[in-house]
Amino acid sequence: MSIATINPATGQLLKTYDPMSPEQVDAAIGRADEAFRTLRRTTFAERARWMNAAADLLLRDCDELARLMTIEMGKTFASARAEVAKCAAACRFYATHAEGFLADEPADAKAVGATRAFTRYQPLGAVLAVMPWNFPLWQVMRFAAPALMAGNVGLLKHASNVPQSALYLGELFARAGFPAGAFQSLLVGAEVVERVLADPRVRAATLTGSERAGRAVARIAGQEIKKTVLELGGSDPFVVMPSADIERAAEVATTARCQNNGQSCIAAKRFIVHTDVFDVFAEAFASRMDALTVGDPMDPATDIGPLATEQGRIDIEEQVDDAVRKGARVLCGGQRPDGDGWYYPPTVITDLNPTMRIWSEEVFGPVAGLFRVDSYEQAIELANGTNFGLGSNAWTRDPAEQERFATDLDAGSVFINGMTTSYPELPFGGVKNSGYGRELSAYGIREFCNTKTVWMG
Ligand code: NAP
Repeated sequence: MSIATINPATGQLLKTYDPMSPEQVDAAIGRADEAFRTLRRTTFAERARWMNAAADLLLRDCDELARLMTIEMGKTFASARAEVAKCAAACRFYATHAEGFLADEPADAKAVGATRAFTRYQPLGAVLAVMPWNFPLWQVMRFAAPALMAGNVGLLKHASNVPQSALYLGELFARAGFPAGAFQSLLVGAEVVERVLADPRVRAATLTGSERAGRAVARIAGQEIKKTVLELGGSDPFVVMPSADIERAAEVATTARCQNNGQSCIAAKRFIVHTDVFDVFAEAFASRMDALTVGDPMDPATDIGPLATEQGRIDIEEQVDDAVRKGARVLCGGQRPDGDGWYYPPTVITDLNPTMRIWSEEVFGPVAGLFRVDSYEQAIELANGTNFGLGSNAWTRDPAEQERFATDLDAGSVFINGMTTSYPELPFGGVKNSGYGRELSAYGIREFCNTKTVWMG
């Protein structure tokens, strides 16, 4: 894949980049190593000052940065601006809380025959971050802000279709005051990841992306005995039970499916609805999906812009066509529009069965699968009957049922009467093929730390 900006709204190639040479990559790793020696000796207060300065820069650059993201991957300008603001808030969150999250934790010294015993969290060194295009800024920031505050340094290998976002990020932290080399962007293709990860100066890796890429990176890291965090795909269930507020559930379902033009790992993808409320939910949901405005992502009236890549549209088209051929019923959407750009309409599809690809595969676009169930048990069986386990959603006003869903849904998070969202205050990650490890909160910042036992006799 070439490293280039192609505007998904027009299909026009705007800019191409030469990948960095092996020598340039080597020099970047050297700078990272050098920066680590400096950064690890700085205080939390110094890092917090720089991290807050990064937040200020993000907000100052907000419109230009949002425009960049929109032309590189097609998200609406409004949602791109919101992404910038969320990133600035995450910088401030870790600037404020990192020191507390990483404070020494005393243990019972007497019990271990010591005069003093405690756990100390220390940075590991250079961490390679392999990142996807769907939230070009946020995916990176939720790694970078805690990692830098912990005293680690970062090497970003961003997706090949968002090079301008990558370059912006590669300069941001040095502009904010962090030592030069503390956070750099490597403009390279996926084939270079192996060499970077094998370098002894690189101590760990985090990858957000597809299962395929996750397996590849975990394999190399396993060989090299290096720690990884993997945030992979999802096919989140959105269960609607008879006691739910159906209108509200349909409204949130529409946002949960179509956020980011339908290209979010934690988008609700499978809508599992109790038979008692199936027809009324299906009607409310399909009519809301159908009413969304698809168009130019720069236009404030647009709800849904194009898919990020031409291949992305082909993939979801094939998944929908496969289901329709095998008997699925389309309640709205289902046909690509004529004209330029990689647009695909919000689509609701039902009468699904396990022979259809859509039953088991992740659908990375604004296409909702609608399933009918007769009981709580059936809902749980279907919700958990997937290789993924990232987020999950359940709608019910019955307190006992809320508790059961919280326990029984097999996923990294459960949102009751709401949609899955990432917050700096809460851990984020998955189980099963959705990956392992956690980002955000205190759990996220400790992933790339040496949890050191200190025993003093
Ligand atoms: P992708 O193809 O896996 O790409 C993600 C990143 O991995 C890119 O930087 C890509 O580089 C790199 N990559 C691809 N193949 C690789 C390999 N064999 N070795 C090393 N690196 C490799 O994923 P995508 O299509 O951009 O993103 C969509 C997927 O990401 C979906 O499955 C989605 O659910 C998942 N995702 C998960 C989360 C989460 O937090 N769990 C968040 C967002 C997205 P190139 O661009 O150069 O190929």
